[in-house]
Amino acid sequence: MARPNGGRLYTIVSCLLWPAFFAGGLAGAYFAFQAHWPLFWFNVNYLSIVILIGISERIMPYEQTWLSHDGETFNDFAHTLLNKGTVQIAAAIGTSFPMAVATVALPLFTAHRSFWPDQWPLFAQAILGLIIAELGLYVAHRLAHENLSLWRFHALHHSVERLWVVNTGRFHFVDSLFKIVLSQIPLYLLGAPLPVFLWIGAVTAFIGVLTHCNLNVRTGPLDWILSTPRLHRWHHSRLLAEGNTNYGENLVLWDQVFGTYFNPPRPSSVDIGISGRVAKGFLAQLAQPFSAKGARQILGRAPKRVKDEASRIAETSESEQA
Ligand SMILES: [Zn+2]
Ligand SMILES: [Zn+2]
Repeated sequence: MARPNGGRLYTIVSCLLWPAFFAGGLAGAYFAFQAHWPLFWFNVNYLSIVILIGISERIMPYEQTWLSHDGETFNDFAHTLLNKGTVQIAAAIGTSFPMAVATVALPLFTAHRSFWPDQWPLFAQAILGLIIAELGLYVAHRLAHENLSLWRFHALHHSVERLWVVNTGRFHFVDSLFKIVLSQIPLYLLGAPLPVFLWIGAVTAFIGVLTHCNLNVRTGPLDWILSTPRLHRWHHSRLLAEGNTNYGENLVLWDQVFGTYFNPPRPSSVDIGISGRVAKGFLAQLAQPFSAKGARQILGRAPKRVKDEASRIAETSESEQA
């Protein structure tokens, strides 16, 4: 573990870097949404921030060993591109599948517009949308950890042993769809307008890369409100007591409400990963959760044959003792 303290300048930069990237990303999104091709320009902006974070990780990493290759970079990119949707892949810059879904699905739900406070300033509507969407994200994420039939899909995200900007989008597509459904459907039903979806998509995109980045940043009071790298490192901890916490994707509000907020006063964990085993190749990773054998590997359980043999031996020795 190497967390150099390069003096006052290092401290200042480590305090300013996270808010600067977040504010820079949102400012770029603001201009992109006014442009002729909003999603295209949003992606240009997003990729620029990702590249800048990638460069910064080399200069001031939180964990030096996480800079080494783990053989998963191709898979990380492939899952990211698949998750962000074919529209974005065609643009070769994929980032915002939820935005594309909202653009297509929204007109189907316009009959319910009356529930939504259209008269509020867009900023306030976006905050309200974020809080509502976050409840769906929280429930989906918590269920994915506490329900083994869902964990088999979410485990792919947790199978990495280093965090860096590139594994932000490493999700099984079933896991991603589940989260999108739970977070977006309430907003459709309430009749939230398209700009609210776009802003939620923008915040989620930038918080996402900024929670997974390997940057030695100080986020201080932001840890009470937003999902930060510090909080999310605890969430990736190999220890269940630390990992089954901090489910918030953007806001930590619902973690605070439901008692899963975790931020002890010590450096957050660098021992991350899962006890089970995830397949090596991209296609194998996609297929693994769908078979009983694959699910057992993910859960770190002995194959059924071995378990049957073990229980047969236990039963035999019990009957011999009797
Ligand atoms: Zn998780
Ligand atoms: Zn994560």
